Amino acid sequence: MDTPLPFDSHTHTWLCKHAHGTPADYARMARARGLPGIYVTDHVPTPNAFQGEVRMTNEQFTQYLDMVAAAQAEFGAAYCRLGIEADYYPGCEDWLPDWLAAQPFDLVLGSIHYVTGWNVMGQPPPTEDTAALWRDYFAQVATLARTGWYDVVAHLDVPKRWRAALPADWITTLAGPALEALAANDMAVELNTSGFRHPINEIYPAADLLAALRARGIGIVFGSDAHHPEQVGTGFQRALALARAVGYREYRVYRQRTYTLEPLARPAPPPPGI
Ligand code: ZN
Ligand code: FE
Ligand code: FE
Ligand code: ZN
Repeated sequence: MDTPLPFDSHTHTWLCKHAHGTPADYARMARARGLPGIYVTDHVPTPNAFQGEVRMTNEQFTQYLDMVAAAQAEFGAAYCRLGIEADYYPGCEDWLPDWLAAQPFDLVLGSIHYVTGWNVMGQPPPTEDTAALWRDYFAQVATLARTGWYDVVAHLDVPKRWRAALPADWITTLAGPALEALAANDMAVELNTSGFRHPINEIYPAADLLAALRARGIGIVFGSDAHHPEQVGTGFQRALALARAVGYREYRVYRQRTYTLEPLARPAPPPPGI
């Protein structure tokens, strides 16, 4: 099936210590796979090396800019765009908004990776009381959205990573205020296909949550969250089909922190006679 693919808005390089490849490696793979372009979105460097084991140092940030510039020289600045995945956490307000505003980013992803001390990416939930975890998680997403510092929220229902899916009736109760905040701040949500590589084996966000986003007019982008060039654009046909199934017909492409809408490809019709 040769459906045109969307931009991959979420990739990581070797600089974040748990991923592989350079921006040029990602751009090369993306071009070979027919993607219209990519964003390089390494984990944001933090003051005092906070959670420094999974991110570049502040001293390495110029190296990051240089690596993206080198890929842009080879593949074009419109093809390989400069982004960052910036965590929201209590305390980041002391430095993050000023730091983000001073950089020439095309796109800023906002992420929550910790819920009341639980490292969501690192291990299964520490308690059976997933309602409390989801409530705290979506409260943080709402705060993130209200700051106005970010363009797109990454992996929206990531606490389900270890198979704890979000019950449908919590979409309005626990997630509702976060969804309202995303809509009010004109933020987009990414269809993050890394969920297919995790125990839940499902896209972030799930279909019913995505439908709730669509009902509120919230925009979308597509991201593989690739930590290896081999992963760029993976799962995008399924993500496109899901987006169209809940009614999306456009997605966002960001340039210097503002977006334009691009049409979502229609899945190829089956051959005649089948
Ligand atoms: Zn990562
Ligand atoms: Fe993340
Ligand atoms: Fe990521
Ligand atoms: Zn991520």
